[in-house]
Amino acid sequence: MTKFKEAMNRLFTNMFVCRRCKAKMRADPLKVRLGEIKCRKCQAKQLRPKHKEVKGTGTAAPGTAPAAGGAKGAPGAKGAPAAKTSAPAAKAAKK
Ligand SMILES: [Zn+2]
Repeated sequence: MTKFKEAMNRLFTNMFVCRRCKAKMRADPLKVRLGEIKCRKCQAKQLRPKHKEVKGTGTAAPGTAPAAGGAKGAPGAKGAPAAKTSAPAAKAAKK
């Protein structure tokens, strides 16, 4: 799966898919938004941009990385109170 930037641009920029008959067509996004572009097969104006259905392109999904860590560091905090109680005792012993 090698991807070329030029090819991706050619295949996906300004490409729209008819929501009714799934026909692909190249059109100006401005004109699509204004409703000037119709499907040449079924005359529908319901078009969606094609690049929405990109799947499995590796770096395209940043949210899938597992968030490891966060559970570490909690144990071991019990040692702090013991050290506190030993401090006054050491002061008293110096006298
Ligand atoms: Zn159509």
